[in-house]
Amino acid sequence: MEHRKILDILRHGHPHETAIVRGWIRTKRDLKNFSFIELNDGSALANLQIVINPQVASPDLLKQLNTGASIEVQGTLVDSPAKGQRLELQAQQIHLYGGVDSETYPLQKKRHSFEFLRTIAHLRSRTNTLSAVFRVRNSAANAIHQFFQERGFLWIHTPILTSSDCEGAGELFNVTQLDLANIPKTERQSVDYQHDFFGKPAYLTVSGQLEAEVMAMAFSNVYTFGPTFRAENSNTSRHLAEFWMIEPEMAFCDLQGDMDLAQDFLKSIVQAVLNTCPEDLDFFNQRIDKTVLSRAEAIVNQDFERLTYSEAIAQLERSNQSFEFPVEWGLDLQSEHERYLTEQLIGKPVILYDYPIGIKAFYMRANDDGRTVAAMDVLVPQIGEIIGGSQREERLDLLQQRLQASGLNEQDYWWYLDLRRYGTVPHAGFGLGFERLVQFITGMSNIRDVIPFPRAPMSIEF
Ligand code: ATP
Ligand code: MG
Ligand code: MG
Ligand code: MG
Repeated sequence: MEHRKILDILRHGHPHETAIVRGWIRTKRDLKNFSFIELNDGSALANLQIVINPQVASPDLLKQLNTGASIEVQGTLVDSPAKGQRLELQAQQIHLYGGVDSETYPLQKKRHSFEFLRTIAHLRSRTNTLSAVFRVRNSAANAIHQFFQERGFLWIHTPILTSSDCEGAGELFNVTQLDLANIPKTERQSVDYQHDFFGKPAYLTVSGQLEAEVMAMAFSNVYTFGPTFRAENSNTSRHLAEFWMIEPEMAFCDLQGDMDLAQDFLKSIVQAVLNTCPEDLDFFNQRIDKTVLSRAEAIVNQDFERLTYSEAIAQLERSNQSFEFPVEWGLDLQSEHERYLTEQLIGKPVILYDYPIGIKAFYMRANDDGRTVAAMDVLVPQIGEIIGGSQREERLDLLQQRLQASGLNEQDYWWYLDLRRYGTVPHAGFGLGFERLVQFITGMSNIRDVIPFPRAPMSIEF
């Protein structure tokens, strides 16, 4: 007989069926005539209750069935008299895979802090909260692929090792041991190249966008879904040094189309998670953040507000709210401003567009006013910026001017400029930080708790 997932049993099981389940013990209670085990296999938030009569488990085996132990149970499903569960499993045979020393097992019955759980990242997925987070993460990832595949977008894979900083934010991790950029070309021959990229400097990618543009110029609509790295030496609750980014890129598309796609996309993913993980979202709503469900509904049921950056600055100034960072036309918005806008001033998700040219990357398309670019950010409550996007500069001469103004070298971007020389078209795209999306959907307050192995300053133990 095949073993079954606990989720399958809880949803589709019938009394009198026999079943085999495998998993890890969450708790055991010994009563006078029998014992109860709560078994979890990660497939569902809920545990399956196992009833163990003395004739099924010797006293010696029973003693080893501690919290954390891994077991297989064969038994019969019966109606459960207990509240909150339909079925329980009457055990007939129990096999212990691996026992646990209760004295040293780090996961005790009490509620642990997320800070503590980060120090045991290898075990924290066995808790209700983290396992719910990772099921939501999986569901959202699946929905993202489905969303794009249904619309004819090609999933493309962009390189992780790159040679340039397309965001110009100076947040590159250098994977070469030597800082080759600072060694004159003529002297590089004599350097020990054991640890660099065959004589050239190489960095971890901060965005797959420029390469996605290449692919969009052949396939029209493409998307990336891959890891991204930024040397963010900041300890915020929304920045990681390694995060996953989804970057659609569309040929024959302008900023309006880009904003439309971003809105459709967020609605669709949130709806899909509501459909596939209702128990997990209920759990988050009860235990983590009471606004999780209402925020999800708000995303799904209403259109986002659209506002220019200039209007947003004006509204923030008029609000007379005191912020840590200044509000001034020409400065980038900080998360405190973004959150205040979406949570207090507008009261729903907002798309800000037409940002000052001076604070945005060279590839964003210049507007006719000479001072703004066709950029947009999607802001959501609790997080602030969740998506950053733009229409790209498709005009060769203007792009060359922007490269120059940004202090970048035209030769380094020869292939990128070629796209404007040969069959250029208006095109646009955006980047969504996957962890910020999972954070938003689950209500988890720290981004380190929505990725299995967070990479942030001081935390690369796992
Ligand atoms: P922020 O202003 O929060 O630093 P950004 O403007 O630098 O973000 P973009 O370059 O626009 O970020 O990247 C696109 C998206 O990637 C962002 O909207 C965000 O969702 C996500 N993102 C950016 N940096 C990080 C990070 N360090 N950790 C997690 N997600 C990130
Ligand atoms: Mg940033
Ligand atoms: Mg930003
Ligand atoms: Mg941005």
